Amino acid sequence: MNKIRKLAIEKIADSVRDECSMTGYGFQNIFEAAGKIGYRVIRYPIGSDAFLGFALIKDTERIIFSNSSLILSREIFSIAHEIGHQKLHLKDQGLKIIKDDDFNDRDEFEIEANYFAACLLMPREKVEKFIRLELDDKDINRWSGLDIARIQTEFNVSYDMAIIRLKELRIFNNTVGNELKLEKIEKKISRLLNAINGNVDLCKPAEVKKVPADYLEWVISNYTEKLIPVNSLEKVLKYVDLNAEDLENLPEDELEEDESLDDLIGRMD
Ligand SMILES: [Zn+2]
Repeated sequence: MNKIRKLAIEKIADSVRDECSMTGYGFQNIFEAAGKIGYRVIRYPIGSDAFLGFALIKDTERIIFSNSSLILSREIFSIAHEIGHQKLHLKDQGLKIIKDDDFNDRDEFEIEANYFAACLLMPREKVEKFIRLELDDKDINRWSGLDIARIQTEFNVSYDMAIIRLKELRIFNNTVGNELKLEKIEKKISRLLNAINGNVDLCKPAEVKKVPADYLEWVISNYTEKLIPVNSLEKVLKYVDLNAEDLENLPEDELEEDESLDDLIGRMD
């Protein structure tokens, strides 16, 4: 990624923060924020070994899926990364879906989406402001794991991501970064977060099952209009622990399996 592209991505991330009316340091609830700016956010615990998320365009809908079996700080990163794919790669590049098995892929799109997520979650000026005003411009050589835990809590990111981003912003160098990383190994992050009364939830999976209400309505209306069969409807409902009997006034099933809907749901398996 060259410097011009980096700056362009930073600008796009900035405009997303504006769209979300972000005034604080970090996102308090990026899931809600993504919904407010028009993404259909689906969170589902598909297991800690399963894929991390995907970005999808379906008809006029822009869908973002995140695996809520991941620890929360990683799931937050997933959402930010998928917003990046939506903004940078889908449509513009003629793609309909990008699915992420991991974020370590050295593919150019992955590097860009990771960079976007870092700029979105920890913008340079907010990080610098936090260090100046909240950490009282503390000398870098006196930083401990507790300072990273404070940054983590404010920006809702993982310990590792905070360190990577601070290094990238040249707030500290590799030596300090490595020392702070060691501290993470010695003291468990949750203990660091506990010590500062920070957000311990960042270290646990949220296991949330969340499908936008109008998405469910859309599936149900597709069924009532006989566009999809009952087993497709039931598959969707199962994701949110419902079944067809929970819904009243549904017509009898008359259709065969529908391919296109299954494409979408199949990816959530
Ligand atoms: Zn990706």
